[in-house]
Amino acid sequence: MTKTTMLLACPECGAESPYDVWQSINTAEDPQAREEVLQGKINLFECPKCGTRSMIPSSLLYHDPDRRIIAQYYPAESMKESNFFDQFDPEGRITLPIPEKQRENMPEYLNNIHVTFTMQELILYIRFREELFIKQRQKRVKESER
Ligand SMILES: [Zn+2]
Repeated sequence: MTKTTMLLACPECGAESPYDVWQSINTAEDPQAREEVLQGKINLFECPKCGTRSMIPSSLLYHDPDRRIIAQYYPAESMKESNFFDQFDPEGRITLPIPEKQRENMPEYLNNIHVTFTMQELILYIRFREELFIKQRQKRVKESER
């Protein structure tokens, strides 16, 4: 997981305050961060002075190794950056920024990163995958009981 403490200026009153901006989350290392993502609180800055809330336009890599979920959120504005598209292959896939050598032992699902451009889309995708995970497990239990 990666988070950076940044000094952010409130868009409303201009007051500056420190805030932890997350760039990547591993839910096994930080289960609390998973909660914050699902509640839409991650990277949502709330000004301690005037209470104004604003979404920080930071990309976020979400990784849940237990349920084998991996998703990458980019703020839609990222598409305006000319080099943004360089990281994708022609099918719109991205690869994890890890050395070629480590890639050999990498679990297969890490090659299938789901890309989203809104936080809502990210949250819905995580909910979908978590529900799928439960359903699949129930199915396996049923099958083993037969
Ligand atoms: Zn403020």
